[in-house]
Amino acid sequence: MFQRILVANRGEIALRIIRTCHELGIETVAVYSEADRNASYLELADESYCIGGNSSAESYLMINRIISAAEVGNVQAIHPGYGFLAENSHFAEVCRSCNIEFIGPPHEAMKQLGDKVTARKIARDAKVHTVPGSEGLIEDEAEALRVAEEIGYPVLVKATAGGGGKGMRVARNDISLKSCLSSAAAEAEKAFNNAGVYLEKYIENPRHIEVQILADQHGNAVHLWERDCSLQRRHQKLVEETPAPDLPNAVREDICKAAIRLVKSSGYANAGTVEFLVDSQFQFYFIEVNARIQVEHPVSEQVTGIDLIEQQLRVAAGEELGLSQRNVPCNGSSIEVRINAEDPANDFRGSPGTITGMKVPGGRGIRFDSHIHVGYRIPPFYDSLIGKLIVHRPTRAESIRCMKRALEEFRIEGIHTTIPLLQQIFNHTAFVEGRVDTGFIERELL
Ligand code: ADP
Repeated sequence: MFQRILVANRGEIALRIIRTCHELGIETVAVYSEADRNASYLELADESYCIGGNSSAESYLMINRIISAAEVGNVQAIHPGYGFLAENSHFAEVCRSCNIEFIGPPHEAMKQLGDKVTARKIARDAKVHTVPGSEGLIEDEAEALRVAEEIGYPVLVKATAGGGGKGMRVARNDISLKSCLSSAAAEAEKAFNNAGVYLEKYIENPRHIEVQILADQHGNAVHLWERDCSLQRRHQKLVEETPAPDLPNAVREDICKAAIRLVKSSGYANAGTVEFLVDSQFQFYFIEVNARIQVEHPVSEQVTGIDLIEQQLRVAAGEELGLSQRNVPCNGSSIEVRINAEDPANDFRGSPGTITGMKVPGGRGIRFDSHIHVGYRIPPFYDSLIGKLIVHRPTRAESIRCMKRALEEFRIEGIHTTIPLLQQIFNHTAFVEGRVDTGFIERELL
């Protein structure tokens, strides 16, 4: 096992990783931007280094500075967390060429799966259903019109390098398809330096169900069941839960097996998530692989009792998975809500600033993963996620009651948060009855 690792991230996930390292007796080196200089979680690391200015482009995305910090800090491995460089295969390759292990998949697998058109091909070869759409990249308008005619409108133009919902456009006829093609390509070029786009059938109001997997470097892989992440705003998840409500058992088994097949055929190792869309007939379609730990990983930890960060470290250190599918239980129900510093009453405008008062809920079944505290100043430069509130109870009904009670107790003063919207969700009959889909929030609540 590693003795010392560097955490190339910030905020809640940096703290989350540092905590598991402490439990395992692994020393940690943290890095931070100027804006995060006073973050209190840095005190929990054994060492920390400033790697640059406020923006992520000047700090958390600076590969050379992170590698320098890793060398000065004398670490054996780097954990990238999520976001920033977590799915950058070049970074993974640079780490390994500097003899620093990258705590994530092999860079070849990351590169292939990170390209969605290639990932779709890998899925098809592994006999996993993909959303009907173009075979590969769309070369020209004529091809797009032909594919759209074949699969039928509405269609979704998606960026092959996509992430965070960028470079994605719904087209409902030929005219809009033409303009969506160029605007999606332009947005993708700007965001990812890659203008490649492809077409998928646009599935109306699907559910988003994903499977957590863990694979080692010796060919073993297990799944940690599914998560339902259908509650989204602008394709960004807000509430995640496991098990997925009302998913027939046979479908659940099939979807988990499909995820394992895909992962095994792609030379993958470490933690990852295989994402699917599920239609109203419970037909599921692969959409993408997230080759990293995800924000919503805690719900899977709660029901399985497995520490995913610990497993990531063990696998990266070359250990065999000490788990077989039989000993991955799914006990009870777990739900996570994302608390973002945003104002839901004001078009979700970011709400950075100083937390002047705070009361965090506690009691049975509650976990709060966060780096915030009274006096903490939320910088305006990064993602607005400031904490994740997770409940774990024997049944979904009890988890919902627990979450409602916890959200009522929660006080965060000085900034706006998504808590009022989350309360609306937990009071909504359709959600309580498990009738969720990706259009729910925009249709029912906004
Ligand atoms: P990104 O990597 O940009 O987050 P994903 O492919 O993971 O993009 O899709 C994000 C979300 O967008 C999904 O959870 C779903 O809500 C929506 N989405 C993606 N593909 C489709 C599709 N073919 N039909 C309907 N909705 C889709």
